[in-house]
Amino acid sequence: MKLASKAAMPDLETVVKDIADEMRRRPDRGEVASYIPELARVDPSAFGLVVVGADGTVAASGDCETPFSIQSVSKVFTLTLALGKAGDRLWRKVGREPSGSPFNSIVQLERECGIPRNPFINAGAIAVTDEILSGHEPREALGEILRFLQFLAEDSSIGIDEAVAASEQRTGFRNFALANYMKSFGVLDNPVDFTLGVYFHHCAIAMTCQQLAMAGRFLVHLGRDPATGHSVVQPERARRINALMLTCGHYDGSGEFAYRVGLPGKSGVGGGILAIAPGKASIAVWSPGLDTSGNSRLGRIALETLARKMGWSIFG
Ligand code: GLU
Repeated sequence: MKLASKAAMPDLETVVKDIADEMRRRPDRGEVASYIPELARVDPSAFGLVVVGADGTVAASGDCETPFSIQSVSKVFTLTLALGKAGDRLWRKVGREPSGSPFNSIVQLERECGIPRNPFINAGAIAVTDEILSGHEPREALGEILRFLQFLAEDSSIGIDEAVAASEQRTGFRNFALANYMKSFGVLDNPVDFTLGVYFHHCAIAMTCQQLAMAGRFLVHLGRDPATGHSVVQPERARRINALMLTCGHYDGSGEFAYRVGLPGKSGVGGGILAIAPGKASIAVWSPGLDTSGNSRLGRIALETLARKMGWSIFG
């Protein structure tokens, strides 16, 4: 009997380059977000992909040194900080169930007495931001978030795009509605303007794919920062953040993302996605065109291809 020869492990660098080349050529790029006017100015043809492997090797292709607005990808890091501060007390203010609703939906909040479904929809992330803010001035809270990202990414040049923050501050009427509504139920402790000021600014943090993939490494290594060996969060917490990314990280497209990609991931309307292959790699992809759920269209397709070629789905 002839034994089937074991397929050779694909070369990560080649896979990443092939995906980026293909994605840059594709015409079906989705629509760039325009409800935050400043985001509408981004070049829809941009595409970047960076993979930081468990052993620290980096495979990068495309526009991976161009900073983009991370928007809701920041919610992974604010959740991590808020859990560090409040522990399980945080879950009194925010749930852990997928919403099945658009990212800025109001209707569910009314039915559920001002408690947002999960920390990754806008209402939930505003409640999480409020927790980080408590006991601090807005500037201090924002500084803490920014320093956390700089520390994780080992890059002190990461900053906030003030034009994006101002643009959302001027036009974020839905978020004002969500925050005021939660305030009426006593879910927010701080003045709505303060909480939203911090929220808009952390959404406006600008990072490159390279920086974002580096910042995600602690979720690959059960909460440990591989650069220093120090614990960022306990292993159990890292598992749980990954679980929430898998179930809630793509709004009403979360089921589809889990089905197609099979990895924990968090998207932002700037077109970025951070995906984690536990024990294997931290991945950042950026393509500004979005699908109808507000998730990067080509970003998701690129991750689907990458996970398939590398055999990285958490489902085996
Ligand atoms: N700052 C955006 C908002 O609150 C974030 C949305 C997103 O990235 O999904 O609408």
